[in-house]
This record gives sequence, C-alpha cells and structure tokens, in this order.
Amino acid sequence: MMNHLKRELKMAIVLITHNLGIVARFAERISVMYAGKIIESGTTDDIFYSPRHPYTWGLLSSVPAVGKKRTEKLSTIKGTPPDLFMPPIGCGFYDRCDYRMKVCKENDPPSREIGDSHWASCWLLDARAPGVKPYVVKRHSGESSCKDVM
Ligand code: SF4
Repeated sequence: MMNHLKRELKMAIVLITHNLGIVARFAERISVMYAGKIIESGTTDDIFYSPRHPYTWGLLSSVPAVGKKRTEKLSTIKGTPPDLFMPPIGCGFYDRCDYRMKVCKENDPPSREIGDSHWASCWLLDARAPGVKPYVVKRHSGESSCKDVM
C-alpha cells in the first residue's frame, strides 16, 4: 500500500523504525540515528553491506538471521543510551562502544565521506585511527561475520 501511494501521489516516504527488515524492503536511502543525531547515512546497500559506524554494526548484529541455531542468543548492544538532558561532550556512543579511543570521549566525531552517497561520524574513519576490520555481510548466504580489532 505504501509503495502504491508513493507511485500514485508521486511522493517520498520517510519511515522511522527499529525494524531493519522493513527498512531493507522499502528504503532507498537509510540514515542511522543515535542519541538524537544522524551518525551514518547511505544507500540501503551502503548501510547493509558496508556499514562503517560501530552502532550500525551493533544494530545489524542483533538482527535474527536465517540459518542461525534456535539455541544461539541474539547479540545485543551493551549499556543504555546517554541522558539527553545532559548530553555527552564527545561521541554519544562512547560508553557502549567496543572500539572507543581517548579522542572519542571529549571530541564529537566529524562526518566523513566514505563514498558518493555514504558518510559516517566516527573517529575510526580518521587516518590516524587503528585499523578495524568492518562488519561484513555475505550477500547470498545471509550469514554475517563480526568485526575484529586488528
Ligand atoms: S567515535 Fe569512538 S566511541 Fe564513537 S563510535 Fe566511533 S570509535 Fe566508538
């Protein structure tokens, strides 16, 4: 119905959801928000197949995958979001991030272009940051492998 209305009325649709399944089916472009800010934005392929922000990795890791054993626990993102009445000075994801560095605590990461249509705000994208193997999704098997700090 939404696609029908979009075509008929020649309009765009903005979906705000935690349901990545719906996002994958409908969206052409995805913006990932955390603590009131867009922290990564790109085409659906950029976000699902080449995500660059640790929060996006966490979201994708917590999606149930076909082929996973029923006994396997879904991964979660530890901790809780920051109190936005007292917003953090540096990166909003700092307390929950497995890859945090000294610079992240007091400096909000700038947005960095990754491709024509893809950008993210994370100090890991700085040339001086340690190498991190990004989260990888295998397109055909539906399996995913987790990121590792090198
Ligand atoms: S800027 Fe630092 S704390 Fe924030 S997501 Fe990137 S690595 Fe993690």
